[in-house]
Amino acid sequence: MQTLRDVLQQAQQRGVAVGHFNISDLVLLKAVFDAAQELRVPVLVGASEGERAFMGVRQIAALVKSLREEFNFPIFLNADHTHSLAKAEEAAKAGFDAIVFDLSALPVEENVRQTKEAVVALKSINPSILIEGEIGDIGTGSEIHESAPDLSKGLTTPEEARQFVEATGVDILAPAVGNMHGMLRSMVRGEAKKHLDIERIAAIKRAVGVPLTLHGGSGTDDDDFRRAIQAGINIVHINTELRVAWRRGLEGSLAKKPDEVVPYKILPPVIESVKEVAGSRLRLFNGNGLIARAV
Ligand SMILES: [Zn+2]
Repeated sequence: MQTLRDVLQQAQQRGVAVGHFNISDLVLLKAVFDAAQELRVPVLVGASEGERAFMGVRQIAALVKSLREEFNFPIFLNADHTHSLAKAEEAAKAGFDAIVFDLSALPVEENVRQTKEAVVALKSINPSILIEGEIGDIGTGSEIHESAPDLSKGLTTPEEARQFVEATGVDILAPAVGNMHGMLRSMVRGEAKKHLDIERIAAIKRAVGVPLTLHGGSGTDDDDFRRAIQAGINIVHINTELRVAWRRGLEGSLAKKPDEVVPYKILPPVIESVKEVAGSRLRLFNGNGLIARAV
């Protein structure tokens, strides 16, 4: 079975990116897994601290492990946006494959000091776990926002990125390159798109050499995604688009069957709604018709 590190190396060689989708229930997990399995591409599922608190840290790990083993399929689990060493250690002990250790809200020296300590502590629990560090400002909350925050002052520079990766020993870096968590209402309606600083991505990649993650991918222009992946992005996070599809799917299913009370009859259209979005993003990240037989 391939490791997540192998999958990221292959993605870099092939010029594709691994799709990362957040889950907070079994509907989302089934939808993402079905989409990846149909396309035969590796996939990452993520759960933030809030999503983990809802589903249970060990319970999510058991579900993902059971899919990986039963179907011999490269599905991996990431502890998204983890803000303390205690929560990160809990995820590492539960068997997560990767952890986003996010102290980007702290002054950079403090972020470096604590991230470096966390890398050592987490690798002592599982030497093959991958640790992602984060610098810069990409906003918070994978939800619908009324207005765009000004993130222009928090963009990551190549020099900061190089120093951060060297000083901390992180395996993966999440830079701020014009991306933003959540979506504006205009983006949900499809009237506006996010745009990325492609030159900055390429310069950061040259400076650090490690895999790069793009957070807050929902609502990004398709062509910007393609160019960002060519410039060195290896993992793309999509959360809000899936949450929108989940809600719309549920509203549609309930409206269509006002008297239905059987969950396994109400929820399949919700899975389909989410799967459609996950599938279209996976096709884009993996090069559309050029999908290599990765699995
Ligand atoms: Zn994120």
